[in-house]
Amino acid sequence: LVSRKKQAENTVVDLKGTLVGNGTPVIVAGPCSVESEEQVFAVARSLKEQGVRLMRGGAFKPRTSPYDFQGLGEEGLKILRRAADEYDLIVVSEIVNPGDMEMAEQYVDVIQIGARNMQNFELLKAAGSVRTPVLLKRGLSATMEEFLFAAEYIVSRGNTQVMLCERGIRTYEKWTRNTLDISAVPILKNESHLPVFVDITHSTGRRDILLPCAKAALAAGADGIMLEVHPNPAVALSDAKQQIDIPSFETFMKDLRASNLMG
Ligand code: PEP
Ligand code: MN
Repeated sequence: LVSRKKQAENTVVDLKGTLVGNGTPVIVAGPCSVESEEQVFAVARSLKEQGVRLMRGGAFKPRTSPYDFQGLGEEGLKILRRAADEYDLIVVSEIVNPGDMEMAEQYVDVIQIGARNMQNFELLKAAGSVRTPVLLKRGLSATMEEFLFAAEYIVSRGNTQVMLCERGIRTYEKWTRNTLDISAVPILKNESHLPVFVDITHSTGRRDILLPCAKAALAAGADGIMLEVHPNPAVALSDAKQQIDIPSFETFMKDLRASNLMG
């Protein structure tokens, strides 16, 4: 169902009037984790100013260590919703528990399935059973075929509003957190009609190469870019080393717009 052979035209996902997959790239930005109302509102204000409509923020955090901050849960989703309603934004947030899908639909506009859960088949089935659009991230060592089959799990349950997200894969290279597989973009665009995002923050884990990686992703045909923005990255409760602050985000947006890759 997700194959180009089944459907030649691009799937265009309509997020309250913002179209994803129609040729004009979109940006999704926001903190790694929702930490407080103040933090989310500060980011939301900047997104609004920049004309960026999609806001991310994790309320359920799949952390590598069980001792790390696990997220605010439903309270975090409520904070995202309040900020989004205030600034007319779209909420993108990760859900990790199949039983939370219906609860999440009250607050989020896009359900994110994280890399670590790409092959959590019960979660994929649950995401396929609701009608909220889904952003599915590529697993840490998933092949293209595994990635597309994961999307197929969701679409085959009836939720056709699926967006794919390349977020870097595990390799031996240590100078980046993961290896951004830029070739995934044209391959996914050729093989599937679903929109394709590139998460430049988790793939690189470095603030200094976000702009060239975003340009590469857009030049390769990506429909959207994801990045992490935090009002004070140094004190962030997760991914403190890779998030950018609000002035850097504003510079990033200005430079990306100047590249003429934003349509
Ligand atoms: C995230 O986007 O918040 C995240 C945890 O990313 P990933 O699932 O790609 O590691
Ligand atoms: Mn993160």
